[in-house]
Amino acid sequence: MVRVAVVDYELCKPDKCGTPCVRFCPINRTRPYKAIELRPERGNKPVVNESFCIACGICIKKCPYKAIKIVNLPDEVERKLIHRYGPNAFKLYGLPTPSLGKIVGVLGRNGIGKTTAMRILSGELVPNFGNYSAKPSIDEVLSRFRGTELYDYFNKLYSKEIKVVHKPQNIEIIPRVAGKAVVRDVLSRLDERGVSKDVISLLYMDRFLDKRIAELSGGELQKLAIAVALCRNANVYIFDEPTSYLDIRERLRVATAIRDLIPHNAYTFVVEHDLVVLDYVSDVMVIGYGEPGVYGMFSKPYATGTGINFYLEGYLPSENMRIRDEKIVFSLHEVKEDSEYLMKTGAPMVEWSHLKKRLGSFMLEVEPGYAYQGEVIGILGPNAIGKTTFVKLLAGILKPDEGYTTASMFRISYKPQYLERSIPKCETVEDCLAKVNKEALSPSSWLFHEVVRRLNIDRFLHRRVEELSGGELQKFYVAACLIKDADVYLLDEPSTHVDVEDQLGVARAIKRIARIRKAVVFVVDHNLVLLDYAVDRAMVFLGEPTKMGLALSPRPIGESLNEFLKELGVTFRRDPRTGRPRMNKPGSYLDRYQKSIGAYFYSKPIETEEE
Ligand code: ADP
Ligand code: ADP
Ligand code: MG
Repeated sequence: MVRVAVVDYELCKPDKCGTPCVRFCPINRTRPYKAIELRPERGNKPVVNESFCIACGICIKKCPYKAIKIVNLPDEVERKLIHRYGPNAFKLYGLPTPSLGKIVGVLGRNGIGKTTAMRILSGELVPNFGNYSAKPSIDEVLSRFRGTELYDYFNKLYSKEIKVVHKPQNIEIIPRVAGKAVVRDVLSRLDERGVSKDVISLLYMDRFLDKRIAELSGGELQKLAIAVALCRNANVYIFDEPTSYLDIRERLRVATAIRDLIPHNAYTFVVEHDLVVLDYVSDVMVIGYGEPGVYGMFSKPYATGTGINFYLEGYLPSENMRIRDEKIVFSLHEVKEDSEYLMKTGAPMVEWSHLKKRLGSFMLEVEPGYAYQGEVIGILGPNAIGKTTFVKLLAGILKPDEGYTTASMFRISYKPQYLERSIPKCETVEDCLAKVNKEALSPSSWLFHEVVRRLNIDRFLHRRVEELSGGELQKFYVAACLIKDADVYLLDEPSTHVDVEDQLGVARAIKRIARIRKAVVFVVDHNLVLLDYAVDRAMVFLGEPTKMGLALSPRPIGESLNEFLKELGVTFRRDPRTGRPRMNKPGSYLDRYQKSIGAYFYSKPIETEEE
């Protein structure tokens, strides 16, 4: 067995806890050597000596800040070790296999080493094979890869035979280095392939070509970063999370642009949490798994469709590895059986009349509608079309200029789109959640099971809210919203920054809360898989972004998706095995067939010959 001990030095506070991890360690107490000790070079914080540790778990339990994690791995895994950031830090085993002329999709939880792997494959980070004290030479690295399929790749990479373009995950830093530049100039200056016209039209960038980078919205910045990558002449293209900040329409455009514009003989990697995009864009895919923050490894390449199905089923056959206990199954029918049941037996609860609301130069109109007890209503549409405005009308934060809603007669729980990091008078996640509903923190309660556990919040209950990562902060707010005792739940974009595993958790939690509490949930989101899974009926928002929005009455999710996709001119089918929605290739037989019969969202399962 190999022992991997990871200490989160941000959580560790030895001056506050009296270091029970060191004092209670049975090895420290009974042997002449130490399995865990405070080290000056770590700021007098504990370092676990993995060769002496027996993984008894006492330090893990004693640590009041939950800063220590220890796992055992089979010996043969150690041979695959590629990188470790330092002593008691995250370990990366293996890399996604590059494939010439193919787009390799990379899927996996946050903290599993995807970005680390992309930095190694781009040459930004030289792997140390666990020897973090001595930086290995290029020759050493190459000799470690000799005889593997990675050798050829790294040989070309290090001898500069191939050039890499890397669209990083955190695009937020771009304005800091190039804020003054104008989008049009940047594109023309960096266009080495003469494709900027195509990129601009595929990504619909005309509207902001004359803006400076510092003035761009998150979505515009993302599109620019992708456009620049596509304009470069390279042999390796890496896109780390290309759909953050984008609405559904833009996500599908990005997927199409990457597929259409990547040169045919390049190595391409796309790390992505939106299953529809990943599915459409990749030729093959690898699944990252392991223990977030502790260690990560990658599966062999799978054909994309099959790989996503294995992922949803929670089992990787080539690796003989179970990655989840539960299967995730989608409904295969246009109207889900349980939604239909709800509409037959449920009573309408929240109602709204025809509504009008003007905000500055923006005008929103809403068709009348109502929601049943126990129902989940999805809200879908592009950015700046009035989705948040509608949710605020329901929440009573905004008053309509014309019309009424009955939502304010009920107890409301609201998760806004933009989240605050500082919450007055509560420090840790646990404190804050306890203030909302104490019961949800008791491990025997249904709320703990359906929300706290399902969203994996039990892993960071002790952390301070201001220190959470983007995905953790989002999950914390979603949980705080869902555990509150209320009749109407309003969730504005709950999947932002959340990894694919937790998106599915959020989708299930939303549905369970609605059903168990007989409450109404409204959810705005850009993730079609989440919407399709959780939602009974949906409201489509049409119109012209920033000018005027028209919200249609709720209709069964299949019908709504049909309407929405028709607007976009793309078609979807359902996967026959798991029922998940999949986008058809534009101009393919299915695409043409479905358009001809007006079935943009085709709910009958169809076998395809693609795979
Ligand atoms: P992913 O992209 O899958 O979310 P990352 O590769 O970003 O995962 O991170 C994997 C783990 O490595 C995380 O626990 C992260 O905290 C840790 N990590 C990332 N960069 C560093 C670094 N420079 N030093 C130490 N640990 C790091
Ligand atoms: P969505 O949630 O669909 O992205 P929003 O409802 O947030 O859209 O916004 C719709 C439009 O209304 C946007 O163009 C936004 O800039 C504008 N808007 C929102 N709030 C205000 C306000 N208080 N004053 C003026 N304009 C606003
Ligand atoms: Mg919004």
